[in-house]
Amino acid sequence: KLSARLQLIADQLPPGCRLADIGSDHALLPVYAVKQGKASFAVAGEVNEGPYEAARRQVAESGEQSRISVRKGDGLAVITAGEVDTITIAGMGGALIVSILTSGQDKLVGVKRLVLQPNVGEEFVRSWLIEHGWYLIEEQILEEDGKIYEILTATADPESAVLNEELYQERNLGEGVVASKALLLKIGPRLIAQPSEVLLKKWQGEIAKLEKIHRQVGLSSQASSRERKSELRQEIEQLKEVW
Ligand code: SAM
Repeated sequence: KLSARLQLIADQLPPGCRLADIGSDHALLPVYAVKQGKASFAVAGEVNEGPYEAARRQVAESGEQSRISVRKGDGLAVITAGEVDTITIAGMGGALIVSILTSGQDKLVGVKRLVLQPNVGEEFVRSWLIEHGWYLIEEQILEEDGKIYEILTATADPESAVLNEELYQERNLGEGVVASKALLLKIGPRLIAQPSEVLLKKWQGEIAKLEKIHRQVGLSSQASSRERKSELRQEIEQLKEVW
């Protein structure tokens, strides 16, 4: 049985897809996807020896070696262009996900769907998607074992998506609060449209963290620290307006 987080990711796979799961660790997702018929073929990519060996073992135990290829390498280097139509990258920081996508851009030809689960730095991933012609079709948030996760699903097909200009257009949240594009990038244009308790909890936690940093930035008269403090204050006030 998959964790609730991996299950939500699996639910985003188009039926019968050809999947690459990058940073697959124990290859739990590819094994599940192939066994359930969600994927007809899968690549489990891993850059590190330990997780790569764990993935190989898991796939051998599942008896699915003919449909799951476990490969060692950095990011999208493990696949050839056109080999898969769906890519999942989960359980790492947003900046790392962006760097994997950027260095592997030539491998995205023919890829129709990306399912990305950054642990932090979701806004970097959203910006990358916009800059590279992808459209967010779904955003999910969940809490599991005391951690909050977001899952971003994107398509390359403009016909089946709300275009980014519209999705990230400044919008009125009511009571005079306007969400700028920067705020939508941070919180998520789809998540903010259907606020949930987990989303509220996440941002109350983020505000608390920022308040703590704000207190810790020295009270010295140094211009740089005064500037940092006022930037933080502005960010906090912006977020507090929404939550
Ligand atoms: N994707 C699984 C999940 O969500 O449960 C495993 C997440 S695990 C925390 C992150 C994995 O990404 C590690 O096994 C790590 O070795 C792998 N990884 C980190 N950077 C990578 C890269 N550039 N290419 C491939 N794998 C990478």
